[in-house]
Amino acid sequence: MVCKTEQELINLVEEAKDVTQLGEVATYIPALGKANRDDLSVAIFTLNQTCMSAGNVEKKFTLQSISKVLALALVLMDHGPQVVFQKVGMEPTGDPYNSIIKLETHKPSKPLNPMINAGALAVTDMIKGETLNEKWTRLLDFVQRLAHNSKISYCEDIANSEYETAWLNRSMCYYMKQYNVIEHDVEELMKLYTKQCSIEMHSLDLAKIGAVFASDGLCPLTQEVLIPKDIARICKTFMVTCGMYNASGEFAIKIGIPAKSGVAGGIMGVVPNQFGIGIFGPSLDKKGNSIGGIKLLELLANKYHFSIF
Ligand code: GLN
Repeated sequence: MVCKTEQELINLVEEAKDVTQLGEVATYIPALGKANRDDLSVAIFTLNQTCMSAGNVEKKFTLQSISKVLALALVLMDHGPQVVFQKVGMEPTGDPYNSIIKLETHKPSKPLNPMINAGALAVTDMIKGETLNEKWTRLLDFVQRLAHNSKISYCEDIANSEYETAWLNRSMCYYMKQYNVIEHDVEELMKLYTKQCSIEMHSLDLAKIGAVFASDGLCPLTQEVLIPKDIARICKTFMVTCGMYNASGEFAIKIGIPAKSGVAGGIMGVVPNQFGIGIFGPSLDKKGNSIGGIKLLELLANKYHFSIF
Protein backbone atom coordinates (compact mmCIF):
# COMPACT_ATOMS: atom_id res chain seq x y z
CA MET A 1 0.00 0.00 0.00
CA VAL A 2 1.20 3.50 -0.73
CA CYS A 3 0.53 5.12 2.66
CA LYS A 4 0.98 3.03 5.78
CA THR A 5 -2.02 4.55 7.50
CA GLU A 6 -5.06 6.48 6.35
CA GLN A 7 -3.91 9.30 8.64
CA GLU A 8 -0.86 9.77 6.40
CA LEU A 9 -3.14 10.28 3.41
CA ILE A 10 -5.40 12.64 5.38
CA ASN A 11 -2.35 14.76 6.31
CA LEU A 12 -1.22 14.96 2.69
CA VAL A 13 -4.70 16.08 1.59
CA GLU A 14 -4.65 18.80 4.27
CA GLU A 15 -1.24 19.95 3.04
CA ALA A 16 -2.32 19.97 -0.62
CA LYS A 17 -5.51 21.89 0.19
CA ASP A 18 -3.53 25.12 0.68
CA VAL A 19 -3.23 25.60 -3.08
CA THR A 20 -6.96 25.32 -3.87
CA GLN A 21 -7.19 29.08 -3.14
CA LEU A 22 -4.90 29.74 -6.09
CA GLY A 23 -7.19 28.18 -8.70
CA GLU A 24 -10.72 28.67 -10.00
CA VAL A 25 -13.61 26.29 -10.69
CA ALA A 26 -14.59 25.93 -14.36
CA THR A 27 -17.49 28.16 -15.38
CA TYR A 28 -17.59 27.82 -19.18
CA ILE A 29 -20.01 24.95 -18.54
CA PRO A 30 -22.29 27.06 -16.32
CA ALA A 31 -23.45 24.22 -14.04
CA LEU A 32 -19.84 23.38 -13.11
CA GLY A 33 -19.54 26.85 -11.58
CA LYS A 34 -21.56 25.69 -8.56
CA ALA A 35 -18.68 23.52 -7.30
CA ASN A 36 -16.96 24.31 -4.00
CA ARG A 37 -13.40 25.46 -4.66
CA ASP A 38 -12.04 24.08 -1.39
CA ASP A 39 -13.10 20.46 -1.90
CA LEU A 40 -10.33 17.91 -2.19
CA SER A 41 -10.75 14.17 -1.85
CA VAL A 42 -8.77 11.11 -2.82
CA ALA A 43 -9.25 7.35 -2.90
CA ILE A 44 -6.63 4.71 -3.62
CA PHE A 45 -7.63 1.19 -4.66
CA THR A 46 -4.95 -1.46 -4.82
CA LEU A 47 -4.87 -4.54 -7.00
CA ASN A 48 -5.23 -6.69 -3.92
CA GLN A 49 -8.44 -4.83 -3.22
CA THR A 50 -7.49 -2.66 -0.29
CA CYS A 51 -8.79 0.85 -0.24
CA MET A 52 -7.78 4.06 1.46
CA SER A 53 -9.37 7.47 1.25
CA ALA A 54 -9.23 11.01 2.59
CA GLY A 55 -11.42 14.10 2.27
CA ASN A 56 -15.12 14.09 1.50
CA VAL A 57 -15.07 11.02 -0.75
CA GLU A 58 -18.85 10.76 -0.81
CA LYS A 59 -19.05 13.82 -3.06
CA LYS A 60 -19.82 12.95 -6.65
CA PHE A 61 -18.35 14.75 -9.63
CA THR A 62 -18.64 14.45 -13.40
CA LEU A 63 -15.88 12.79 -15.39
CA GLN A 64 -15.63 15.39 -18.17
CA SER A 65 -12.36 14.70 -20.03
CA ILE A 66 -11.60 11.59 -17.97
CA SER A 67 -14.41 9.97 -19.96
CA LYS A 68 -12.29 10.41 -23.09
CA VAL A 69 -9.99 7.58 -22.13
CA LEU A 70 -12.93 5.28 -21.36
CA ALA A 71 -14.68 6.04 -24.65
CA LEU A 72 -11.37 5.44 -26.40
CA ALA A 73 -11.02 1.99 -24.80
CA LEU A 74 -14.56 1.14 -25.93
CA VAL A 75 -14.10 2.22 -29.56
CA LEU A 76 -10.74 0.44 -29.74
CA MET A 77 -12.59 -2.68 -28.63
CA ASP A 78 -15.40 -1.94 -31.10
CA HIS A 79 -13.24 -1.39 -34.20
CA GLY A 80 -9.58 -2.16 -33.46
CA PRO A 81 -6.69 0.35 -33.54
CA GLN A 82 -6.32 0.40 -37.32
CA VAL A 83 -9.79 1.80 -37.96
CA VAL A 84 -9.73 4.18 -35.00
CA PHE A 85 -6.36 5.71 -35.87
CA GLN A 86 -7.54 6.50 -39.38
CA LYS A 87 -9.77 9.13 -37.76
CA VAL A 88 -7.59 10.34 -34.90
CA GLY A 89 -3.84 10.66 -34.44
CA MET A 90 -1.36 9.70 -31.73
CA GLU A 91 0.60 12.89 -31.12
CA PRO A 92 0.43 15.46 -28.32
CA THR A 93 -0.55 18.96 -29.47
CA GLY A 94 1.01 21.35 -26.97
CA ASP A 95 -2.24 23.33 -27.28
CA PRO A 96 -5.10 23.66 -24.78
CA TYR A 97 -7.66 20.83 -24.79
CA ASN A 98 -10.31 22.88 -26.58
CA SER A 99 -8.05 24.33 -29.27
CA ILE A 100 -9.34 24.22 -32.85
CA ILE A 101 -6.28 25.54 -34.68
CA LYS A 102 -4.47 22.32 -35.63
CA LEU A 103 -7.57 20.88 -37.28
CA GLU A 104 -6.78 23.21 -40.14
CA THR A 105 -3.03 23.65 -39.97
CA HIS A 106 -2.10 20.00 -39.47
CA LYS A 107 -2.59 17.72 -42.48
CA PRO A 108 -4.27 15.28 -42.94
CA SER A 109 -7.31 16.97 -41.42
CA LYS A 110 -7.85 14.81 -38.40
CA PRO A 111 -7.45 15.60 -34.70
CA LEU A 112 -3.96 14.95 -33.34
CA ASN A 113 -4.99 12.72 -30.44
CA PRO A 114 -8.07 11.36 -28.63
CA MET A 115 -7.47 13.30 -25.39
CA ILE A 116 -8.19 16.76 -26.81
CA ASN A 117 -11.81 17.72 -27.40
CA ALA A 118 -11.64 17.38 -31.20
CA GLY A 119 -10.19 13.88 -30.96
CA ALA A 120 -12.59 12.83 -28.23
CA LEU A 121 -15.56 13.98 -30.31
CA ALA A 122 -14.27 11.88 -33.23
CA VAL A 123 -13.90 8.92 -30.88
CA THR A 124 -17.39 9.25 -29.42
CA ASP A 125 -18.73 9.40 -32.98
CA MET A 126 -17.31 5.88 -33.46
CA ILE A 127 -19.11 4.20 -30.54
CA LYS A 128 -21.04 1.29 -32.05
CA GLY A 129 -24.84 1.24 -31.87
CA GLU A 130 -27.89 1.60 -34.09
CA THR A 131 -29.38 4.47 -32.11
CA LEU A 132 -28.17 7.23 -29.81
CA ASN A 133 -29.70 5.36 -26.92
CA GLU A 134 -27.94 2.11 -27.77
CA LYS A 135 -24.58 3.90 -28.00
CA TRP A 136 -25.19 5.62 -24.66
CA THR A 137 -26.29 2.40 -22.95
CA ARG A 138 -23.21 0.55 -24.20
CA LEU A 139 -20.91 3.30 -22.94
CA LEU A 140 -22.58 3.61 -19.55
CA ASP A 141 -22.63 -0.17 -19.11
CA PHE A 142 -18.90 -0.28 -19.88
CA VAL A 143 -18.15 2.45 -17.31
CA GLN A 144 -20.30 0.66 -14.72
CA ARG A 145 -18.37 -2.56 -15.28
CA LEU A 146 -15.01 -0.76 -15.04
CA ALA A 147 -16.01 0.74 -11.68
CA HIS A 148 -17.82 -2.42 -10.62
CA ASN A 149 -20.81 -0.27 -9.75
CA SER A 150 -24.12 -0.63 -11.60
CA LYS A 151 -25.50 2.51 -9.91
CA ILE A 152 -23.27 4.89 -11.84
CA SER A 153 -25.29 7.30 -13.96
CA TYR A 154 -24.93 10.85 -15.30
CA CYS A 155 -25.82 14.35 -14.12
CA GLU A 156 -28.59 15.65 -16.36
CA ASP A 157 -28.16 19.29 -15.24
CA ILE A 158 -24.50 19.36 -16.21
CA ALA A 159 -25.12 17.49 -19.47
CA ASN A 160 -27.83 20.00 -20.45
CA SER A 161 -25.72 22.93 -19.34
CA GLU A 162 -22.88 21.80 -21.60
CA TYR A 163 -25.18 20.88 -24.49
CA GLU A 164 -26.69 24.39 -24.45
CA THR A 165 -23.33 26.17 -24.48
CA ALA A 166 -20.88 23.92 -26.40
CA TRP A 167 -20.48 26.15 -29.45
CA LEU A 168 -16.76 25.56 -29.86
CA ASN A 169 -17.14 21.76 -29.67
CA ARG A 170 -19.98 22.01 -32.22
CA SER A 171 -17.75 24.05 -34.52
CA MET A 172 -15.06 21.39 -34.35
CA CYS A 173 -17.61 18.69 -35.14
CA TYR A 174 -18.85 20.50 -38.23
CA TYR A 175 -15.28 21.12 -39.34
CA MET A 176 -14.48 17.44 -38.96
CA LYS A 177 -17.69 16.44 -40.72
CA GLN A 178 -16.45 18.34 -43.76
CA TYR A 179 -13.48 15.93 -43.85
CA ASN A 180 -15.49 12.80 -43.01
CA VAL A 181 -13.71 12.40 -39.68
CA ILE A 182 -17.17 12.68 -38.14
CA GLU A 183 -19.80 10.65 -39.94
CA HIS A 184 -22.97 10.95 -37.88
CA ASP A 185 -25.40 13.74 -37.11
CA VAL A 186 -23.61 16.47 -35.13
CA GLU A 187 -26.51 17.26 -32.77
CA GLU A 188 -26.88 13.56 -31.90
CA LEU A 189 -23.15 13.37 -31.30
CA MET A 190 -23.27 16.44 -29.04
CA LYS A 191 -26.05 14.82 -27.02
CA LEU A 192 -23.99 11.66 -26.59
CA TYR A 193 -20.73 13.50 -25.85
CA THR A 194 -22.28 15.81 -23.24
CA LYS A 195 -23.89 12.83 -21.49
CA GLN A 196 -20.58 10.97 -21.62
CA CYS A 197 -18.77 13.94 -20.04
CA SER A 198 -21.47 14.16 -17.35
CA ILE A 199 -21.09 10.58 -16.13
CA GLU A 200 -20.96 11.03 -12.39
CA MET A 201 -19.16 9.11 -9.66
CA HIS A 202 -17.09 9.57 -6.52
CA SER A 203 -13.36 9.19 -5.98
CA LEU A 204 -13.49 5.51 -5.03
CA ASP A 205 -15.31 4.56 -8.26
CA LEU A 206 -12.64 6.43 -10.17
CA ALA A 207 -9.83 4.75 -8.22
CA LYS A 208 -11.35 1.38 -9.10
CA ILE A 209 -11.35 2.27 -12.80
CA GLY A 210 -7.71 3.36 -12.43
CA ALA A 211 -6.99 -0.02 -10.87
CA VAL A 212 -8.38 -1.80 -13.95
CA PHE A 213 -5.82 0.06 -16.08
CA ALA A 214 -3.14 -0.65 -13.45
CA SER A 215 -3.82 -4.36 -13.87
CA ASP A 216 -3.62 -4.25 -17.70
CA GLY A 217 -7.40 -4.33 -18.15
CA LEU A 218 -8.32 -6.98 -15.57
CA CYS A 219 -10.97 -6.19 -13.00
CA PRO A 220 -9.10 -6.55 -9.68
CA LEU A 221 -12.33 -7.65 -8.00
CA THR A 222 -13.42 -10.39 -10.41
CA GLN A 223 -10.30 -11.06 -12.50
CA GLU A 224 -12.50 -10.62 -15.58
CA VAL A 225 -10.83 -9.09 -18.65
CA LEU A 226 -12.66 -5.78 -19.10
CA ILE A 227 -10.17 -4.29 -21.55
CA PRO A 228 -7.73 -6.37 -23.64
CA LYS A 229 -4.15 -5.81 -22.50
CA ASP A 230 -2.93 -4.16 -25.73
CA ILE A 231 -5.81 -1.66 -25.62
CA ALA A 232 -5.20 -0.87 -21.94
CA ARG A 233 -1.57 -0.24 -22.91
CA ILE A 234 -2.58 2.20 -25.69
CA CYS A 235 -4.86 4.07 -23.27
CA LYS A 236 -2.13 4.34 -20.62
CA THR A 237 0.34 5.62 -23.19
CA PHE A 238 -2.08 8.37 -24.22
CA MET A 239 -2.55 9.22 -20.55
CA VAL A 240 1.21 9.73 -20.22
CA THR A 241 1.66 11.75 -23.42
CA CYS A 242 -1.59 13.77 -23.47
CA GLY A 243 -3.67 12.95 -20.36
CA MET A 244 -3.01 16.22 -18.57
CA TYR A 245 -3.51 18.29 -21.74
CA ASN A 246 -0.64 20.70 -22.44
CA ALA A 247 0.76 20.11 -18.95
CA SER A 248 1.51 16.44 -19.67
CA GLY A 249 5.29 16.95 -20.00
CA GLU A 250 5.67 18.68 -16.66
CA PHE A 251 3.34 16.14 -15.04
CA ALA A 252 5.43 13.25 -16.42
CA ILE A 253 8.59 14.80 -14.97
CA LYS A 254 7.16 15.74 -11.57
CA ILE A 255 4.81 12.80 -10.97
CA GLY A 256 5.44 10.25 -13.70
CA ILE A 257 2.32 8.10 -13.91
CA PRO A 258 -0.41 7.64 -16.54
CA ALA A 259 -3.21 10.03 -15.53
CA LYS A 260 -6.25 11.74 -16.98
CA SER A 261 -7.91 14.89 -15.73
CA GLY A 262 -11.25 16.58 -16.35
CA VAL A 263 -12.50 20.15 -15.93
CA ALA A 264 -14.89 19.19 -13.15
CA GLY A 265 -11.71 18.62 -11.11
CA GLY A 266 -11.28 14.85 -11.32
CA ILE A 267 -7.98 13.07 -11.90
CA MET A 268 -7.64 9.35 -12.49
CA GLY A 269 -4.14 8.07 -11.76
CA VAL A 270 -2.71 4.68 -12.66
CA VAL A 271 0.29 3.17 -10.89
CA PRO A 272 0.94 0.07 -12.99
CA ASN A 273 0.70 -3.27 -11.17
CA GLN A 274 -0.03 -1.48 -7.91
CA PHE A 275 -3.10 0.76 -7.61
CA GLY A 276 -5.55 3.21 -9.09
CA ILE A 277 -6.07 6.74 -7.74
CA GLY A 278 -9.26 8.78 -7.90
CA ILE A 279 -9.06 12.47 -7.00
CA PHE A 280 -11.66 15.21 -6.90
CA GLY A 281 -10.65 18.84 -6.44
CA PRO A 282 -12.64 21.32 -8.56
CA SER A 283 -10.26 24.26 -8.20
CA LEU A 284 -8.35 24.29 -11.49
CA ASP A 285 -5.02 25.73 -12.60
CA LYS A 286 -4.61 27.79 -15.79
CA LYS A 287 -4.41 24.66 -17.95
CA GLY A 288 -7.64 23.20 -16.59
CA ASN A 289 -6.16 20.58 -14.25
CA SER A 290 -7.15 20.20 -10.58
CA ILE A 291 -4.64 22.38 -8.73
CA GLY A 292 -5.06 20.57 -5.41
CA GLY A 293 -5.11 17.21 -7.18
CA ILE A 294 -1.76 17.83 -8.87
CA LYS A 295 -0.25 19.11 -5.63
CA LEU A 296 -1.47 15.99 -3.82
CA LEU A 297 -0.06 13.69 -6.51
CA GLU A 298 3.24 15.54 -6.31
CA LEU A 299 3.37 15.03 -2.53
CA LEU A 300 2.48 11.35 -2.92
CA ALA A 301 4.96 10.75 -5.75
CA ASN A 302 7.81 12.42 -3.86
CA LYS A 303 7.11 10.51 -0.70
CA TYR A 304 6.44 7.07 -2.18
CA HIS A 305 8.52 7.24 -5.38
CA PHE A 306 5.91 5.78 -7.69
CA SER A 307 7.05 7.40 -10.95
CA ILE A 308 7.14 4.79 -13.71
CA PHE A 309 10.27 6.36 -15.15
N1 GLN B 1 -16.91 18.40 -21.52
C1 GLN B 1 -15.71 19.18 -21.53
C2 GLN B 1 -15.53 19.87 -22.88
O1 GLN B 1 -15.74 19.25 -23.89
C3 GLN B 1 -14.54 18.30 -21.25
C4 GLN B 1 -13.24 19.07 -21.28
C5 GLN B 1 -12.33 18.75 -20.17
O2 GLN B 1 -12.66 18.11 -19.17
N2 GLN B 1 -11.15 19.28 -20.29
O3 GLN B 1 -15.17 21.01 -22.92
